[in-house]
Amino acid sequence: MQRADAHPYMPQPVRLERVERLTEKESLFVFPRPQGFGFTPGQFIMVGLAGYGEAPISISSPPSEKDMVELCIRRVGSLTTILHKLRAGDTIWIRGPFGRGFPTERMHGKDILFIAGGIGLVPLRSLIKEVLAEREDYGRLTLLYGVKSPKEILFEEELELWQKAGVDVRLTIDRAYPGWKGNVGVVTTLIPQVDIDEDNSVCCIVGPPVMYKYVILSLGNRSVRGEDIYLSLERKMKCGMGKCGHCQINSIYTCEEGPVFTLQEIRHLPEAI
Ligand SMILES: Cc1cc2nc3c(=O)[nH]c(=O)nc-3n(C[C@H](O)[C@H](O)[C@H](O)COP(=O)(O)OP(=O)(O)OC[C@H]3O[C@@H](n4cnc5c(N)ncnc54)[C@H](O)[C@@H]3O)c2cc1C
Repeated sequence: MQRADAHPYMPQPVRLERVERLTEKESLFVFPRPQGFGFTPGQFIMVGLAGYGEAPISISSPPSEKDMVELCIRRVGSLTTILHKLRAGDTIWIRGPFGRGFPTERMHGKDILFIAGGIGLVPLRSLIKEVLAEREDYGRLTLLYGVKSPKEILFEEELELWQKAGVDVRLTIDRAYPGWKGNVGVVTTLIPQVDIDEDNSVCCIVGPPVMYKYVILSLGNRSVRGEDIYLSLERKMKCGMGKCGHCQINSIYTCEEGPVFTLQEIRHLPEAI
């Protein structure tokens, strides 16, 4: 997206092609993929509006989708509330992509267990769609996805398509809800239900910080090795380029060296999880 000589602090305008309401709090923002905009699943861009600031947002579409870029943004505060008022034809400003995403080449031939909590499905969607675009390069695919209530399920139609494409999709909601016949309980309650070949599996986890601790414990009980567990850390990020220190955990800059890390890499950092 950036010209080769453009400074990474320099935002570029993109015109929204479509804004689609997904749930009460989340909307999908779609814009044409700028020329030369290369990325890996798990990377993020800084999305800004003049006068309102910038926020790190994961790319939710896969690199194999050449025409469009999709972002799924939850309305939580000042900038995201304004973004949710935008419509097709409006302009947003983007910088990036930044950070280190999921290393798909290291997953070739392996079973992949995706574990998403809430909006954590947003970056994992990029990875899942990329993996499905080259399905024959991977082993068994399983998605465990936990949300608070059925109203918060994201990309429901795509979940069905993924299931048909051979992903074992398992959903759970935190608390019982009228009419819900599926699993009830936090996402970790699904882990004992799946068959994990610990010698040939990788786990890709994205969710709220509180989820990581329990998911890691549960995977440890299933003998999954730390180098096979990838997780994306969410920290407050400002520059996206390892300069400002907002996202620093001990000696690492999450925006630059992450947001995706293996458990092995961050195990020794007490503040990471
Ligand atoms: C690598 C990365 C990828 C992300 N991807 C997405 C995504 O795909 N979709 C999405 O909706 N959100 C994503 N986020 C979170 C998003 O950046 C924040 O929700 C956003 O910055 C809030 O901006 P605001 O001005 O609307 O909220 P503010 O008015 O700044 O704050 C509202 C609330 O959000 C919290 N908050 C503010 N900034 C962050 C932040 N950077 N991380 C966590 N909490 C924050 C504040 O503590 C406060 O509770 C991502 C964050 C990171 C670090």
